[in-house]
Amino acid sequence: SLPLVAVVGRPNVGKSTFVNRLADSNDAIVHEMRGVTRDRSYHQALWNGFHFRLVDTGGIEMGSDDSFQSSIREQAFCATEQADLVIFIVDGTVGIQQDDQEVARLLQRANKPVLLVVNKLDNPSDESALWEFYSLGLPEVFAISSLHGHGTGDLLDEVVKQL
Ligand code: GDP
Ligand code: MG
Repeated sequence: SLPLVAVVGRPNVGKSTFVNRLADSNDAIVHEMRGVTRDRSYHQALWNGFHFRLVDTGGIEMGSDDSFQSSIREQAFCATEQADLVIFIVDGTVGIQQDDQEVARLLQRANKPVLLVVNKLDNPSDESALWEFYSLGLPEVFAISSLHGHGTGDLLDEVVKQL
């Protein structure tokens, strides 16, 4: 089957915006697939002629039954087990949060390629916000704006290179 890329990170960092953005960009094609589960949505993606699958974790709110709501760490862990590559998204406008540090530690132990993506850097002047995220200890760091699309092409080039 096709290689699987997991998109993980805290709520509201822009995971779903990122995934849906790809569907709107010129060169990437993302189809939602059947079999959407409670807390993940699977998509089929195409970039530069390369097909892969994307799973957006925690992307679906399904009402009030919070007892089944997985913690962010469980989400990240399960997605990472399945994935060939992990896109770990953080919010560049709020700095490093404790959950970011916990997910980073988990991903460092997972022995899978991880691309750290600092999202919401909408303006070039925001890019100074990037540097603090290197302290999470993940060597590959990308600045993007899922809203405007800045940086997403370079990121996808790297994704397909590493798959
Ligand atoms: P998720 O919970 O990680 O899936 O996050 P969402 O994709 O639902 O996005 C959470 C909020 O952040 C929404 O209001 C988005 O419009 C906003 N957002 C996502 N990406 C960006 C971005 O690149 N720049 C800005 N300014 N806002 C963004
Ligand atoms: Mg979401």
